[in-house]
Amino acid sequence: MRPIQMVDLKQQYAKIKPEIDAALQDVLNSASFIQGKAVHDFADNLARYLNISHVIPCANGTDALQIALMALDLQPGDEVITPSFTFIATTEVIALLKLKPVFVEVDAKTFNIDPAAIEKAITPKTKAIVPVHLYGQSADMSAIMSIAEKHNLHVIEDNAQAIGGDYSFPNGKTKKTGTIGHVGTTSFFPSKNLGCYGDGGAIFTNNDNLASKLKMIANHGQSKRYYHDMVGCNSRLDSLQAAVLNIKLKYLDNYIKARIAVADYYDKAFANHPKITTPYRAPYSNHVFHQYTLILNDVDRDGLNAWLAQHNVPSMLYYPVPAHRQKMFDAFGGKNYELKTTDWLTERVISLPIHTEMDDEQLAYITGKVLEFVNRSK
Ligand SMILES: *Cc1c(COP(=O)(O)O)cnc(C)c1O
Repeated sequence: MRPIQMVDLKQQYAKIKPEIDAALQDVLNSASFIQGKAVHDFADNLARYLNISHVIPCANGTDALQIALMALDLQPGDEVITPSFTFIATTEVIALLKLKPVFVEVDAKTFNIDPAAIEKAITPKTKAIVPVHLYGQSADMSAIMSIAEKHNLHVIEDNAQAIGGDYSFPNGKTKKTGTIGHVGTTSFFPSKNLGCYGDGGAIFTNNDNLASKLKMIANHGQSKRYYHDMVGCNSRLDSLQAAVLNIKLKYLDNYIKARIAVADYYDKAFANHPKITTPYRAPYSNHVFHQYTLILNDVDRDGLNAWLAQHNVPSMLYYPVPAHRQKMFDAFGGKNYELKTTDWLTERVISLPIHTEMDDEQLAYITGKVLEFVNRSK
């Protein structure tokens, strides 16, 4: 059996090596490493794929969130509602900009921000909501957009884990995740569903004014070279990464299919098990399975994590400490929050290997080992 990895980027590269190598060689020959043709081509191709007017590439997914927030003219102390059950970047940039992160509860089924909890957390200082499509499952965007409209709030979708996902509104209209809010952001970190070979990120919007502002902020606040209209930062996707992404974007839908096939295998193996809850697939979207995350009931989760490692099966705990319990947020009153579902989930979730290169032999081995441990626990 081939060794099992959380993500197998070597094998994925091997399958597209000639194309990738040629694209990288083109950039090397052009010596146009910054703002080169590959970057513009990729932004255009991704905009077409997502069916959105503007894609602004940047240096990473964290910067994408930061730049999106910087473009909204918020004032220090303004409140931004966000889940606590997410990767730290989502909440960190809010604090970095001297805004106030307001942590709200997630839905135990979807792992995503609970619209009812958003509504309860709104105050006169609330200016924005940052939903996260965690593990590849879209948040309930139709409900979130109605709340935002009612209270005149900005919505920034953190789409780092769900690029390529589709979301269907109750009226049947479908949009790509990340293109529903006023701004969407993503990461091209190598292990993401659309990953490059280093760091990368992007911001999406249909709003022309916002797009020019986002572009300026990502480029030292300049509209014209050496004329700086606002305080910005330096955040660029480089041409080599864009060249890789241009190739991989063509395969994104197939990569998603491969991930869903892995999830289907796991679902079947764990179906109706009293101690295992398999990922919920919301009727309003296709889960793109950035992660395959189980909820364990009455099982020593950390014990399973260690036992799998002993048997050469990697597994991960995303995320063992929610944002509101991180030291970083002590000064923001993190400890005063009571988020029962978030705490409950952080103690019970475990993510199994999922990627585009898995075979049935590996899956049979993994599911066998998981069930062996779980069935043994009392
Ligand atoms: C990966 C990730 C980010 C940050 O992306 P980087 O490119 O690593 O900066 C932000 N939010 C979520 C939910 C992520 O998974």
